[in-house]
Amino acid sequence: MMRMLLAGIAMLGPIAAQAQDAPSTPGGKEAVTLLTDGVKFQTVAGRGQVPAYAAYLQAKLLSAGFDPAEVRFVAMGETGYLTARYPGRDRAAKPTVVLAHMDVVEADPKDWTRDPFTPVIENGYVFGRGSLDNKAGLSMAVATLMKLRRAKWVPQRDIVLVLTGDEETTMKTTRAAAEAYRNAALVLNADAGGGLLGDDGKPMVYGLQAAEKVYGDWHLTVTDPGGHSSRPGPDNAIVRLATAVGRIAAYRFPPQQNEITKASLAGTATMTPGPLGAAMKAFAANPNDTAAADILSADKRYIGQVRTTCVPTMFNGGHAPNALPQRAVANINCRIFPGTPRAQIAAKLTELAADPKVAVAFNDNGTIEAGASPLDPKVVAAVKAAVAERAPGLLVVPMQEAGATDSMHFRAYGIPSFGVGGVFMKASDSFAHGLNERVPVATFDPGVLWWETLLKTLG
Ligand SMILES: [Zn+2]
Repeated sequence: MMRMLLAGIAMLGPIAAQAQDAPSTPGGKEAVTLLTDGVKFQTVAGRGQVPAYAAYLQAKLLSAGFDPAEVRFVAMGETGYLTARYPGRDRAAKPTVVLAHMDVVEADPKDWTRDPFTPVIENGYVFGRGSLDNKAGLSMAVATLMKLRRAKWVPQRDIVLVLTGDEETTMKTTRAAAEAYRNAALVLNADAGGGLLGDDGKPMVYGLQAAEKVYGDWHLTVTDPGGHSSRPGPDNAIVRLATAVGRIAAYRFPPQQNEITKASLAGTATMTPGPLGAAMKAFAANPNDTAAADILSADKRYIGQVRTTCVPTMFNGGHAPNALPQRAVANINCRIFPGTPRAQIAAKLTELAADPKVAVAFNDNGTIEAGASPLDPKVVAAVKAAVAERAPGLLVVPMQEAGATDSMHFRAYGIPSFGVGGVFMKASDSFAHGLNERVPVATFDPGVLWWETLLKTLG
């Protein structure tokens, strides 16, 4: 998962991007090589290529001076996760985890302009599936650790590189890795956070990801003996379910706020003109300002920032055009404000359905409940130091993501986890999960420096 939260901000200015087709620093070159080699591994779920990609990365880490005893691949079915421990001065201190994922979303070559698994550098971009999500971030983090290891830099505490193998699907490797490193002090995730560039290529803002909405699906089911449609009775499974779904759809969960969304809206307000910006400012100052919450909720980009949302996403019912339905099922998809228990949402859905014949059942897809990470001043300071080198004066805004990343499994153990990715790009360049995914070559030289500064500032 990788999204630009602030992608909705209007961007002005001429389009005058200087296409850079090759990095100029050794670190940037290394990162681009790792990326272009990495795109060739078709690490889509089910193809069994994660172990080969991990073996490639393992060899690279060893070539930079990592000890074979420090680098380990844990196989799990056709995938697995790779870890590399970088020893610090204080071996007893809790480690810092640098997190990224090796797997990618499926890509059908028929639909792509270029083959998704053949890396192509063109017009200043690396094209290929995973070029952005998450092999760009992974390659920058790995290239940085290789550079630091070659330079014999020693961190204060151990750094553990954790590369998961099924972030886009079941996150079983993430779950296992989080359990293995549940003593970590901190997680720095390369798969979230990042800099937003305007269409003129100028940095607009840096988003520091510190929270994610909690995912939840509920199946609502009505069953009925059915019968011949020419002899209808007073009851009908489809009508009963539709009525319950209508009541749920009409309900709005109360506005909520945490320190992340407060800071996010306050920061975004400074760049957002008109009533929308005024509503952000007002809601950030007062979460009980329901008028401001209404304005934000009317905007698809911000409704998820101010409340839990539950919407019907699937509806199936009946089995024949001339029969009364014996069964109707709806899926209600919720994006829950972190900190609100799923059980509370389930109770609300049952209450709103208001019909004992509507069965409400949680549909477990493996996602878990995790709260927001309290903003750690040390992490904020490190991000600001990295931003100061890259784009002096750039606004740093904490953000709460609508989707989920590997961070949730670490947050569930209470480990503060922050999306601090080093990719700076335009909103219009983001094709993660989609067709013709690409990443600007120009982001790699500063991206390696970015990780170096982050790690060195954090010690
Ligand atoms: Zn991702």
